[in-house]
Amino acid sequence: MSKHQHDQNAGALWRYFKDVISWVKITFPVYRKEMKGIEWGTLYNKYKDIVYDTKKLEKEILKLIDDDEVQSIKGIYVYILTGEEKYLNLRGFDDKIKRKVYEKQKGICPRCGKDKHYELSEMEADHIKPWHEGGKTTEDNCQMLCLQHNRSKSGK
Ligand SMILES: [Zn+2]
Repeated sequence: MSKHQHDQNAGALWRYFKDVISWVKITFPVYRKEMKGIEWGTLYNKYKDIVYDTKKLEKEILKLIDDDEVQSIKGIYVYILTGEEKYLNLRGFDDKIKRKVYEKQKGICPRCGKDKHYELSEMEADHIKPWHEGGKTTEDNCQMLCLQHNRSKSGK
């Protein structure tokens, strides 16, 4: 590679970085420290041609920051663009709630019916009402499902 070509490549790369940064600044005008370390390049490549209502995005960000179920502020930005809930790191049920609900259900998976009995380790906690419908991580919104039914429900 000649020196000249190297300079050209470096120039192109620099231009690309500047494009990414200005896209982020235009799309998310309010700066928050959690924006550091997000893989903006990947997001830019995928979403740079979509025109966003940035005021609406900011409103959505504030709502998600305020939501105690959301545990990753960084993830909010990725979620807003991708729509994938996994980035929000939503709260999970703790062991105490899992045990309580398990005992209440007596080891029965509501999907399988009462002919099958499961050990606690063979079941997973599920939000009866999912987060995107306003469901919280509380005991009354928890059901224990067998692994198979929990996985088929959440599509994990
Ligand atoms: Zn089941």
